[in-house]
Order: sequence, then C-alpha cells, then structure tokens
Amino acid sequence: MLFSQGLLLLLCQLTSAPPGSTLLLCHASSGATCWYLNSCKFVQNVNFFFFDYYIAVVKKGSTFSSHYFLIFCLLTKQKDKLILQRKNVATWYVCGPTVYDSAHLGHARTNVQFDIIRRILTNIFEIDIIQVLNITDIDDKIIAKAAKEGISMAEVSRKYEHEFFNDMAALNVLPPTFVPHVTDNIDTIIQYIDRIMKKRCAYATPSGSVYFNVSASPHYGKLHSKESLTTESIDSEKQNPLDFVLWKAVKPGEPFWESPWGKGRPGWHIECSAMASKIFGDKIDIHSGGEDLIFPHHENEIAQSEAHYGCDQWVNYWLHTGHVYLSQQNEKMSKSLQNVILISDFLKSYTSDQFRMLCMLTHYRNRMAYQDNVLVAVTSLLQQLESYLQNSEAYIKGHLKCKSISEAEVFSRLERTKTEVKIALADDFNTPKAMKNILELVQFLNSQLSTSKENIICSRSPVSVAAASLYIKNIFKILGINLGQQENSLESSFLQHQMSCVLDSSLKFRNEVRQFIFDPPKDLSFGTDYEKLTSKEQKKKKFQIFQPLLKSSDNLRKEYSSANIQVMYLILLSTDNANNVELTKKMRHFYVAFNLLSPPEVYLESNN
Ligand SMILES: [Zn+2]
Repeated sequence: MLFSQGLLLLLCQLTSAPPGSTLLLCHASSGATCWYLNSCKFVQNVNFFFFDYYIAVVKKGSTFSSHYFLIFCLLTKQKDKLILQRKNVATWYVCGPTVYDSAHLGHARTNVQFDIIRRILTNIFEIDIIQVLNITDIDDKIIAKAAKEGISMAEVSRKYEHEFFNDMAALNVLPPTFVPHVTDNIDTIIQYIDRIMKKRCAYATPSGSVYFNVSASPHYGKLHSKESLTTESIDSEKQNPLDFVLWKAVKPGEPFWESPWGKGRPGWHIECSAMASKIFGDKIDIHSGGEDLIFPHHENEIAQSEAHYGCDQWVNYWLHTGHVYLSQQNEKMSKSLQNVILISDFLKSYTSDQFRMLCMLTHYRNRMAYQDNVLVAVTSLLQQLESYLQNSEAYIKGHLKCKSISEAEVFSRLERTKTEVKIALADDFNTPKAMKNILELVQFLNSQLSTSKENIICSRSPVSVAAASLYIKNIFKILGINLGQQENSLESSFLQHQMSCVLDSSLKFRNEVRQFIFDPPKDLSFGTDYEKLTSKEQKKKKFQIFQPLLKSSDNLRKEYSSANIQVMYLILLSTDNANNVELTKKMRHFYVAFNLLSPPEVYLESNN
C-alpha cells in the first residue's frame, strides 16, 4: 500500500506529531505493516505503522528523540535526527574482521573512527552502547592460509584474532560488548536460512548450495544506486546474477557442517544477519563497517534480514568510514594493491595518539589522506597541546610571569568552546570542527599565557586557566587521547614526591632510634628484662621510659599511611611454646584470609 506525500504530510499536520513520535494508522482487519520511517524526506524520523483505515494515533514517548543530534543516514542520503528504540541505549553491530592475516591501517581507521563515535555517544551524550563485533573464523581465505601454512583453520583464526585485538588495544579501541564467532553459531545461521527458505526468498541448488533470490526483494539496493549494482560472479547455479549464496555446498577438503540442504558452510553475508539477530532481535539502531562493505555485503544483509523478518527496515542507521588513501599515489590502501601498512609497523614509528588525532581531524565519512607530512602536522599539533598544558601548569604554580588575565574572559571563551564542541559532535560526529574549536581555545589561552618582561603587578587568574586545562585534558581523554606525557610525568612526579617523603620519614625514624640507643633516658636500665615488668606501676614506668620510641613509631606509621603504605605489625614468637604456635596459626589464617603480605610464620622461621 502506497501513500501519497500529500496524504502523509496532512496526517502529520493533523496529528501535530513531534519528531520522534510514532504514528499509528489503524485498520481493523489487517496486521500491522511497518513502512520504513526514513523514506519520506518531509516527515523525517516519524515512525509509520500503516493499516488500511487511516485512523491516526500519536503514541507519545515510544521512542527517544535526541533534541538536536544529527546522524548521516545512508537510507535517506542526508543527516537525520538520531532516534533510538530505547531511551539512552543504542544497539550497534560492527562487521568485524575475517581473521586470516595481520590488520592494516584500513582496519585501524575504521575501528578507531567508530571507537571515537562510541566514546562521543557514551561520554558526551550519555547513550549506553551495546556493541557486537563478529569474528569471521571460517572463510575461503582462512582455508587457503591454513593449507599454505600446514596448520589447522582454528589455529589460523585464533592467531589473527588474538593479533587483531592486541592491535586494537594498542590503538586504545574499547573492546566490544559481545564478540560472536561464526563457527559457534552455525545452528543459528542454519535456522535463519531455513526461515528465509520458508518465506520463498531463497532456493537450494542441486549441488546443495542455497542462494538468496534478489528478485524476491523489491527494495534491494537501498544503500547503493541501483544502476551500479553489478556482480562479477559467473556462478551457473544462480537464477539471477545478483543472487548471493547463503549456504555453500562442501567442496573436497573443506570443512563442513550438516544442514537440511546437505553438507556445507555458511556464506559470508548471512553470518552477520544471523549473529546480529541472535542478540538484537529484529531491529538494530546502528550497523557499521568500512565503505567497501556497502555493496554487496550490507545490501545483502538488508535483503536477507528484511526477508527473514518480513519488515521494511531492519537497521535504522548505517555508518560507513571512508578509505585510507596514500595521497601521493592517490590510491586506496588495500591488500589487493599490496600497499598496506600494518598496524604493528605503524606503531613502531608513531603512537596510537597520533593516529587517533589523524582520525579526529578527518570526518569519519571522508577519505583519509595518509602521508608523512600529514603525520608531521599531527605530531606538531599534539606537541602544541602538551606545551600549552605545561605552560598552564607553570602559570598556576606561579612559575610563569605573564600579562594580566581576565578571569571573566577565560571562562566566557571556555563556555563558548564547550557549547561549540558539543554542537559539532552532535552534527554527525563532526570531530574536525570540534578539534578546530578546541585548538582556537588553546591559541587564545596561549596568547593569554605569553610571558611578560615588564616588572608590573598583574592580575592573576589561576582558577580559570586550571578550569580550561582540565576541560582540554578531559575532552581528549573522553575521545581516547591521553595527553599522556604530561599526565604521566605529573603522575610519576607525584609518586616520586611520595617516595621521597617516605624515605625522609624512614631516615628520621632511624635517627631517632639511634638517638635513643646512644643517648638513652636516665631511667633505662640495660640489664632489665622489661617484658617481665607487668604490674600497673611497672607498666606506667615502662611507658615513660619508652615513650620517645613509641612516639617515633606512631609518627612513622602516620607518614606511611599518608603515602598509602599500610604498616603490618609483625609478631616475632618462638615456637617452643604451644600457645605461640596456636597464635601463629591464627595469624597466618588471618593474613591469608585478607590476602595480606606473607604470613608471620615466615618471620618466625627466619628468626629461629
Ligand atoms: Zn557484516
């Protein structure tokens, strides 16, 4: 059933549907048919559920509308308001790697860029992200690699999966919430294909393969322009050149699983639909990958999932990152062109912060130009930020003499920058613009902190400068860049300071003990066994004599405590006494139960 634009517009106006609300157009006899919400440009972000009789109902509060958050939607080819199915929670499926080789900067770009977006949504817009990234651990390339290296496919896939996550950790990419593997989900995939077969959207071939029938999918090619949908496949079993494989019949020497169509293994596209559905069900907020996945992978995922669910919009927002290009040759970095730079090699010369800064200075949808002079510029930018933070710290401590700073002006610029950054990030994650705003703030602050040789009294404003520095450090930390050297040096200088305090206290204590020994109180008698003096009078006397030592001990314990060092009292006992042995046992249990240092028994043995 199709509606004219005029009718839809009229319905919207009649119901005064605000963005993010849901319109229900009801009919008593037919079931609900979900028409995809972004297809009508003039009523963006209004969900339509159409029935036959046009009774419009506004179901308020059923969806979450972020007031001004815009996200590029490949379905409508424009920026739309971000509407999530659940308030402040987004479901996000990322097409993960086929683990047969080392990851390169193309993978790094995609994953770092999405990590930045995830951090923005989580830390700035308070949207919790449930992220699933799949691992393709069965594939032609893995089979070929295993045969070439004479090892099992499991060994190949585990090796490169491990390497992939190590690379991601080195790039400070947050781990996904769930990481499903294809080989752990074969049953799920078979059931998924079976349902598509039952809906008559796929067909089995005599050899035991199953193909998706693209002609059964009227909206095939939603992301791509239909004219450019081509396929190089010459598979004679296909009914239509665009049809794609859901289940591959086994070939000699290949791994296989039993299925209703015979022995075989899943095709690449179906795994993502099945594994995403297993966790997220029939609707996903965000689905992402590199732009090379748009066709055929994502088109095919859409076709098979919408056939499986009988719906018209399986994913609301498709995010795709641009390719990495080697600027001088103006060619895409790809394995097929043999011009890739491995992540591990990149990190031998540069830091993860430098790469992330390069990602932030490039809009995620644009191509990234990779060349040495770009990295030199990025390095210089990070150095400027570090240098500003060092200057501001010197200023706050009073070590930097500069002209008068207006507190009101610094706070005003800071607030303006905070707003501008938030607006930029809410505009389809415009990190280059946000970076520009932050760097302008830094330039302004640097101009304020320029040194003055004039010997005049200037008005100082350490609080406003500290607030600006704190914001700059925090916003970068949120985005995954530790303006690290500065922070690490601050941390280590703090630790060094603590250690020197501890050493000073220990030396002081040692001197006080020596002083006590060499210049003892007049009442101290070296021949007396003070352990045996137990009457009240004797104890009082004992306390007076040893009071300087007790005081020194207390002082030392307080000093240690302020440096987070816990002092454990050791009880040195001899083992010739049954009570002592029992006590020692109890002490050991206590130490073990609270996971403390070595049990006292060790000391006991070493002292006997
Ligand atoms: Zn995928």
